[in-house]
Amino acid sequence: MSAPTYDLGKLHGGLRLPAEKMKSTAAAIQTAPVPKQLVLPLTQHAGSAAHPVVGIGETVLKGQLIADSDGILSAPVHASSSGKIVAIEPWPVSRRYGEPAPCIVIECDGRDEAVELAEAIVPYETIEPDSLLQKILQGGIVGLGGAVFPTAQKLMQANTSPLEYLLLNGVECEPYISCDDMLMREHADEVLGGASILMHALGLQKCYIAVESDKSQALRRMADALSDLDDKRMVLKQVPTIYPSGGEDQLVKLIANVEVPSGGLPTDVGCVVQNVGTAAAVYRWICLGEPLISRVTTVTGDGVANPMNVRARIGTTIADIVEFTGGYTDRAKQMIIGGPMTGKSVTTDRVPLVKATNCILVASHLAPILDERPCIRCGECAVVCPVVLQPQELYWFAWADDEVKLRQHGLIDCIECGCCDMVCPSHIPLMASFRQAKARIHELEDEKARAERARRRFEARSMRRDMEDKKRQDELAEQKRAAVRAGPADIQEMVERSRRKDSAPKARTKKGPED
Ligand code: SF4
Ligand code: SF4
Repeated sequence: MSAPTYDLGKLHGGLRLPAEKMKSTAAAIQTAPVPKQLVLPLTQHAGSAAHPVVGIGETVLKGQLIADSDGILSAPVHASSSGKIVAIEPWPVSRRYGEPAPCIVIECDGRDEAVELAEAIVPYETIEPDSLLQKILQGGIVGLGGAVFPTAQKLMQANTSPLEYLLLNGVECEPYISCDDMLMREHADEVLGGASILMHALGLQKCYIAVESDKSQALRRMADALSDLDDKRMVLKQVPTIYPSGGEDQLVKLIANVEVPSGGLPTDVGCVVQNVGTAAAVYRWICLGEPLISRVTTVTGDGVANPMNVRARIGTTIADIVEFTGGYTDRAKQMIIGGPMTGKSVTTDRVPLVKATNCILVASHLAPILDERPCIRCGECAVVCPVVLQPQELYWFAWADDEVKLRQHGLIDCIECGCCDMVCPSHIPLMASFRQAKARIHELEDEKARAERARRRFEARSMRRDMEDKKRQDELAEQKRAAVRAGPADIQEMVERSRRKDSAPKARTKKGPED
């Protein structure tokens, strides 16, 4: 069965980029073996780091909780195989440009023994939506499309808005990356199963599944699976192959022809977006009892001998994964974790695969650093910007460190797609300057929040002191009034009592939480 097409909204700007996906989609998804060692970062998600609940020397089983979520925005981490905890220490990770971050290191025993499932798997339809959201929270599931926002928290937040539909994002628009394409080709049933669970958890009756037009096999397979499922609430939509149509706001515009407001979220226009890989991970956790301990990732580029898609355990080092696929070629020069447009360059393959790693790109040449020249006001960057920004103006405001103007001109809406960089004839590093400017604004916001907390603490302390002074003055006034009412002998005694009270050592007052 072929995928039907529908009237779609139009995306502003964007680029038609060479896809470069054929090499990695030639073979079926391969499963990497259990490595000797697993390195599991405590921060694999947006929000605060998980805190370890195991100690060095402890043995753990596959699927066992080893670090629990910390705070409102966080996600737990589970052991990807059985073995012994040999270290909890900083290790180079890809999310911080290869800088070290705290990780739990497991020496695998090779037995791959799994924990007993805490609860028998029950049909998800019998679970109340709120309980289902709580259960998703325990599976350590985060958005696998790149944003790595903890899924349960995103759904809970979405649940506070009037929602109309779920939008499954199967638009893998960045060149080279093909893991979602292969997942839809081989596990369409898991993707649709996850979509049904997410709809139940949110009480939704409509789901659109968006897939790019150049993924003909995935489109066919998803259409067949939908036909088998015969769930009229789910609709497959084919979208044009243009970068970055897979951005959340861009996809909402394409599918529903509505704009997500500046600084807003898709939930503001009745939609919650989830990646197809995330939906499959939800299915594996709720229906098979497997927390997020593995993912499909694309290993590609002319620096690897055999480009392919691999299901590997979270925590496997990139070196182990590349070795499994057949190793490097003698042309390997540069490694990027993620795609060529938004990925991060790393200088070591000791970094582990994390929940966000959708691609390991090993290139044979380093991108040349071209001399930056002055802006010639050609306007090309504005033509391709999918968010309808004026990158050339933003660049000047970033250069001048003008936070007010940057905000007024929508810096916060920049999705860091890199389209402006690609077309700039003056080789101006626009996206890098926007990233830095955003980081500065976030730092300033943090500083302001810290100053505001300090101000509130100071005010609370002053208010408490004022109240204590007033109470003491009231007591003195009352004593004086009582003295006037009493005789001269009693006055003498009162004065003595008051003097003794004032000279007695003061008891330390307990500090309140605002201190
Ligand atoms: S990086 Fe930002 S400014 Fe540049 S094209 Fe993309 S969204 Fe627009
Ligand atoms: S594309 Fe480059 S040169 Fe042209 S207006 Fe934008 S920043 Fe200036």
